[in-house]
Amino acid sequence: MAQIHELRCRECDRTYAVAPIHVCEFCFGPLEPVYDYDAIAAGVSRASIEAGPQTVWRYAPLLPIADDVERVDLGTGCTPLIKADNLARELGIRNLYLKNDMANPTHSFKDRVVTIAMTAARAMGFTTVACASTGNLANAVAAHAARVGMRAFVFIPADLEEAKIVTTAVYGANVVAVKGNYDHVNRLCSEIAQALPWGFVNVNLRPFYSEGSKTLAFEVVEQLGWEAPEHIVVPAASGSLLTKIHRGLGELHRVGLLDAAPTTSIHLAQAEGCSPIVAAFRSGIDHIRPVKPKTIAKSLAIGNPADGYYAARVVRKTEGTAEAVTDEEIIAGIRLLASTEGLFTETAGGVTIASLKRMAAAGAFEGDGRVVALLTGMGLKTAEALTGTLGPTVEIQPDFEAFQEALGFLEDPA
Ligand SMILES: *Cc1c(COP(=O)(O)O)cnc(C)c1O
Ligand SMILES: [Zn+2]
Repeated sequence: MAQIHELRCRECDRTYAVAPIHVCEFCFGPLEPVYDYDAIAAGVSRASIEAGPQTVWRYAPLLPIADDVERVDLGTGCTPLIKADNLARELGIRNLYLKNDMANPTHSFKDRVVTIAMTAARAMGFTTVACASTGNLANAVAAHAARVGMRAFVFIPADLEEAKIVTTAVYGANVVAVKGNYDHVNRLCSEIAQALPWGFVNVNLRPFYSEGSKTLAFEVVEQLGWEAPEHIVVPAASGSLLTKIHRGLGELHRVGLLDAAPTTSIHLAQAEGCSPIVAAFRSGIDHIRPVKPKTIAKSLAIGNPADGYYAARVVRKTEGTAEAVTDEEIIAGIRLLASTEGLFTETAGGVTIASLKRMAAAGAFEGDGRVVALLTGMGLKTAEALTGTLGPTVEIQPDFEAFQEALGFLEDPA
């Protein structure tokens, strides 16, 4: 249904025929797919979506892929929305939900953007796909490429967590470790994309890639009984996810799936060691000043975020807030979530929980409003961030006496 005929510049409104391009030739603004919302509204209903597959593809009418295109699909989406009362009590939040995107096929939200970008890539005739990644994108691209037999090149900063390298290479992808930070990797990929006929999911295919993020907002609304929450807390790297959540909420109203225009406040979370969007928001002018990242939250370590300006504007426009948290707070956030809700998130999730805590303490969520925090990645991939902070409770000889002695202080063993 969502047959896209054009891409449009977000800045100057110039339009382009659909092609693997992502910036406007005139003003360098980002390009986005153009939808015929009236046609979509005429063909879509809550019931038609609810009857669709248990994946992001149930929202196909609002995705930039025509119906007759064969999908590159690992079964992404429809992840749990969990009422988190234990954590809520701990943080003094009335009505808290966690969106568990760790439940995606490669355990992060990046499967959402990749299933769309790779489907577009294959439809355009690309046989090699590639990406500049802070880790999770690498996993997702490699896995989807394996599924459909495409060649994959993933470019990562050489200092990435070991677990993210292993979990990419296992799918048979070519892993190129670049001796530099993500911003170096990204610049190199832009150069390669000019020279080689490869589909870079987050460079020349970015207009398709970023649309996949909208499905997170769609799912949250559907899971809340077709109502938009009052608050969403979003971790930001390039700022694309946050920007597209806002776009997605607006589209649901535009096509009649949400009764009222959404008034959701969108809150932004970053690590203090890489918080250029928070800094821009606080400065009041939304201008991004690039930084050199230094944080354990490597999946969010983009010092020069492509959509940072738009993300800061969304936060301001929706009356959201922005927080930056320290590495110590990130680790405490990971542990707090695990010990209260039984969910082990990666460092980016630690950023979300620690920011949520600060926002709650600062009074961002007064009243009964529903607060939805996004858990975008899985803890096992960044377990090394906790190395040295956790270990066995006791170590004993293999006999009952030793155990009794070690735990003799327990008042009530029953
Ligand atoms: C990529 C990523 C994000 C957000 O990325 P944006 O570039 O802001 O869209 C959030 N969490 C995790 C775990 C990620 O890998
Ligand atoms: Zn333009």
